[in-house]
Amino acid sequence: MSSEKGQKVSRSPIVVVMGHIDHGKSTLLDYIRKTSLVSKEAGGITQHISAYEVEVGMSRRIIFLDTPGHEAFHFARESGSRVADIAVIVISAEDGVMPQTLEAIEHVKKNKISFIIAINKIDKPNANVDKTKQQLAEAGILVEGWGGTISAVAISAKNGEGIDELLETILLQGDLENLSGDPFLPASGFVFESNHDSKKGISATLIIKNGTLKRGMFVTTNTAIATVRIMEDFKGGALDSASLSKPVNIIGWNLVPEIGALFNSFASRQEAELAIKNWRKNEEAQKRDKKIGTSFTSESSPKLLPIIIKSGATASLMALEHELEKLGNNKIAIKIIFSGLGPINESDVKLAISSSEILLVGFHVKFDNVARDLVLRHGVKAKTFDIIYELVDWVGEVLKDRTPKEEIEEVTGIGKIIRIFGASKTRQIIGGKVESGEIASDKIVRIIRRDAEIGEGKIKELQSSKVKTSAIVEGQEFGMMIDSKVEIVPGDKLEAYKKVTR
Ligand code: GDP
Repeated sequence: MSSEKGQKVSRSPIVVVMGHIDHGKSTLLDYIRKTSLVSKEAGGITQHISAYEVEVGMSRRIIFLDTPGHEAFHFARESGSRVADIAVIVISAEDGVMPQTLEAIEHVKKNKISFIIAINKIDKPNANVDKTKQQLAEAGILVEGWGGTISAVAISAKNGEGIDELLETILLQGDLENLSGDPFLPASGFVFESNHDSKKGISATLIIKNGTLKRGMFVTTNTAIATVRIMEDFKGGALDSASLSKPVNIIGWNLVPEIGALFNSFASRQEAELAIKNWRKNEEAQKRDKKIGTSFTSESSPKLLPIIIKSGATASLMALEHELEKLGNNKIAIKIIFSGLGPINESDVKLAISSSEILLVGFHVKFDNVARDLVLRHGVKAKTFDIIYELVDWVGEVLKDRTPKEEIEEVTGIGKIIRIFGASKTRQIIGGKVESGEIASDKIVRIIRRDAEIGEGKIKELQSSKVKTSAIVEGQEFGMMIDSKVEIVPGDKLEAYKKVTR
C-alpha cells in the first residue's frame, strides 16, 4: 500500500454474510476463519471482536463481519455510507430460496450494497444447484448463466469445496467497485459494536472506512470520545496504527458509543472536543427547525402512530423496531407502545382495542385463535408478515395516510413583465411574456422583484394579440390589466399559484 499524500489506494472489501436460518452462515464463517486467517495460528487464537480478517493468495485481504442474526445492524443508520461493502447471501442447495433469503436480498438492495450468492451444502445428496438458481430467477434475481450478472458460487461450508472460488469472487467484486480510500487522512468509519466491562471499561469495535488511526489520536462519535491509547486488532494484538478497512478495538471511551454511529479522528483533544460540540450545536439547530416546521401545522410536536409488535426472535424484533422508527418524520412519528416475542395473543389485541389509532403487527408469528377472533370482531388494524420489508412498507402506507395534511402554495405559472402601458393608483396596464406554466384571468398573482416578493395583484383582464382571453400559456405574450397597490416595472415577474393540501 505505497502511495502519496492525497492519493487514493485500494482497500480490502468488508463483507457481511446473510441468509435464511440454518442455511450455513455460521458454518461458512467458521470454515473461512479456520482456514484463511491472516496469521496461520488458527485454533489457538480467540477472536476478540465480531469481525476478522482473512488472507487470500499472497497479499490480498477480506474483512468478514461476524455477528449472524443481527444482519440489519451491519448497515449504518446514516444513508449514503455503509459498514459492509459486499454481502454474501447463503442459500442451502437442499432447501433452496426461502422467505428470509429474499428478505436479505431486499435489504441489501435497499442499502445499495452489491451481493454474491453462495449456494451451500453441495456435499449433500439432495443438493440441487440448478434448481436454486431457477428459484432465484423466478424471484427476479438473475445469476450468471441464467441471463444475469450476479455471481453465484456453489460451495460446501462443511468440506470447503468452492470456498477459494468464493473468496476470489469477493475480491473480484471489490475490484469492480473500486473500493479505495486515502491512508493519509485521519481515520473515519463506523462503530460496529460496543461493550461495557466493569473491569476493562468501555470498548468499541470500529471499522475504518477511510484514513489511518494512530496511537495518540482522539476518536469521537456524535456523543462519545476516546484517546487512542489501547488499540487492538481482532485477535487482541496491540496496534500502533491501523488503516483502510481494518476492524480495530479501542478501549477507554468516556461513554458507550452508539452502534452504527459514524466516527472521526483527530490529532488533538481540542479538535475532537470541538467536533462533538459542533455536532451538538447542529443537532440542537435541527431540533429547532423541526419545531418551526411542525408549528406550521399548528401542532407543537409530531403526531404519533402507536404500534404493537410481536416477533419470533429478539434479533428481528430489534431490527424491526429500528426500521420502523426510521419511518417517522417531523409531522408524524412511530411510537412502539409494546413489543414482545411469541404469537399474537388476547392481551396484545386487547391493548390494540384500547385505541383505534393503534396498529398491531406480527413478524414470523401467527395469531392465536382467541386473538384472531377478537381482531375480526373489533376491526383492529392488524397484520402478520414473513418479510421485513413488506411489514415496513405496510406501516409506511398507514403512516402516509395518517400524516396531518398541510396546505401549501404551488407555483403554476411565471410571467415576465416587458412593458408598462399605463398606471393609475390601483390599476395598471402591462405587457409581458409567460416564461413557464400558465397565467389565468381573475387570479391573484405574486409580484416578484429580484427574487423577492414585493406584493400581490389581481388580474382583471388578459389579452393575447389584443384579443381577450382567459389564460396565457408558456411562450405566449400577453397584455394585462391588473389591480395592485405595488407599482410594477419592466423586469418584474408575476407568479401564479394555487393552494394544495398534501
Ligand atoms: P446458519 O443458521 O445459517 O448460521 O446455519 P449454520 O451454519 O448453523 O448451519 C446449519 C446446519 O447446517 C448445521 O448443522 C451445519 O452443520 C449444517 N451445514 C452448514 N453448511 C453445510 C454444508 O455445506 N454441508 C453440510 N452437509 N451441512 C452444512
